[in-house]
Amino acid sequence: MGEKQEVNIVNKIIVVTGGSRGIGAEIVKHLSKLGYTVILNYNKSQTCAKNVENELKKQGITVDTFKADVSQKEEAEDLIKYVLNKYRKIDVLINNAGISQTKLFTEISDEDWKYMMDNNLNSAFYCTRATVKSMIQNKQGLVINISSIWGITGGSMEVHYSTAKAGLIGFTKALAKELGPSNIRVNAIAPGIIDTDMNKEYSKGEIEEVKSQIPLEKIGNTIDIAKCIEWLIKDEYTTGQVISINGGWYI
Ligand code: NAP
Repeated sequence: MGEKQEVNIVNKIIVVTGGSRGIGAEIVKHLSKLGYTVILNYNKSQTCAKNVENELKKQGITVDTFKADVSQKEEAEDLIKYVLNKYRKIDVLINNAGISQTKLFTEISDEDWKYMMDNNLNSAFYCTRATVKSMIQNKQGLVINISSIWGITGGSMEVHYSTAKAGLIGFTKALAKELGPSNIRVNAIAPGIIDTDMNKEYSKGEIEEVKSQIPLEKIGNTIDIAKCIEWLIKDEYTTGQVISINGGWYI
């Protein structure tokens, strides 16, 4: 894992932050199976990252893994440096790493607030800033930021999470305007509720209650997000958009 080595570049090089579990792991698997060269970033879940790597290896697919806590500037920059040294370019950066927390606003500590901003918003800033210079030189690139429905509508008892995810939307729109002339597209995906560890604290009853508010009457699967990313990679004219994949929960 993570050793430096030169390789031939015949393909799109795609970096997925937070690729060890949930939505990120699905994105890694889906894009790898499509033939893209994918770099899986993980932080705490080395075993899960290994499991993704081994699952793909069994199908004859190699995925490159790199440990970095992308909430830390130096580690985020090390990740991007590693990929640029090894592959000489990054075609697609997917800022997926994120964490959530449910708390009354009055109970959010300074540390909670900073932790939420560092992991959900600053991480995307660090990775994107380190990547786009090379994209500008190559006159092409795509950045996809995984925001959230709460970044659009606001989520009660998730003010810090909602703020960070709303920040990602502003980041997406502004950067799309600035980088459009360099043929770099920047988009956000704002999932509704997707079946991952992030929602494991909800009881069965609570999930049923949410489902009853969703026109499609079901929560989403990780593949729903991965398929949208597949489409965005193939697309050439979508930029600055927030694509809400939420079963119609918020329209
Ligand atoms: P998850 O199952 O909890 O997985 C989170 C992933 O993010 C893990 O792979 C984790 O890696 C990684 N991660 C977190 N902090 C990181 C850091 N500092 N550096 C590197 N990796 C980090 O969550 P998920 O549901 O897949 O969420 C993925 C993204 O979708 C998040 O941005 C989340 O906010 C967003 N989202 C999810 C939902 C939903 O309903 N699931 C809805 C809206 C938006 P390690 O375990 O290796 O640390």
